[in-house]
Amino acid sequence: MDHTFNLTQYGERTALAAAGTSLVEALGLAAARILGIDSSELSGGYRVMPAGPGDTPGTAVNLDFFLYDTTPGGAGFAAAAIGRLPDVLNTAKQILSSCDCSSSCQRCLRTYDNRYDHLRLDRFLAASLLEYMEVGVIPPISATRQAAAFESLAKSVRLLGSFGPSLSAAPSRNGGQLTRAGRSVNIVMTPALIGGDQIQVDASPGGDSVRVSEFVLIRDLPRAATAVFDHLA
Ligand SMILES: [Zn+2]
Repeated sequence: MDHTFNLTQYGERTALAAAGTSLVEALGLAAARILGIDSSELSGGYRVMPAGPGDTPGTAVNLDFFLYDTTPGGAGFAAAAIGRLPDVLNTAKQILSSCDCSSSCQRCLRTYDNRYDHLRLDRFLAASLLEYMEVGVIPPISATRQAAAFESLAKSVRLLGSFGPSLSAAPSRNGGQLTRAGRSVNIVMTPALIGGDQIQVDASPGGDSVRVSEFVLIRDLPRAATAVFDHLA
């Protein structure tokens, strides 16, 4: 299956790579579940390819996901899985949405075979990518995740500056506001697949704002906290 992504939306490919790796695992696990086989019978991957010879490099790519049999010579499982692609996609969606962990765990995406990728696997990133492939829109960050990320950021900034209760945190629809000693910073969170590893600072008389990718908040909270701290110290 091929899907075209407009890469102008992405700051870089780190978040896309984590999402792609996670989605490959979900597709493999889903296929194994549907076929009633052990997940070690299938492996998979994805390729990022130019969308076509006429396209401007770096603006659009095809993501090409593939599954293959781990048995030498092939056992036919991968072909059978492709034959049931709608079921595989639905089951992958269930695997990604039915856990209660914060990124990935043994109950959803982590297996012995993907042990070297455990820290990269993130069911939310994979679910976002899958939804984008289906409907063409990157979904917004869920309210629960956004609130949790804002709380972690506030806690981290408070610790970094030894601010204690002098730093107040007010969550909002797309992030929140941190205030200390009359200075405020608006935090605006962008979905990981759009924001990549970016932090953008907009200092203006009306109040500083920091636009930060959810991916940074998940993977590099100290960097985000430092960027915010600089505007409150
Ligand atoms: Zn889990």
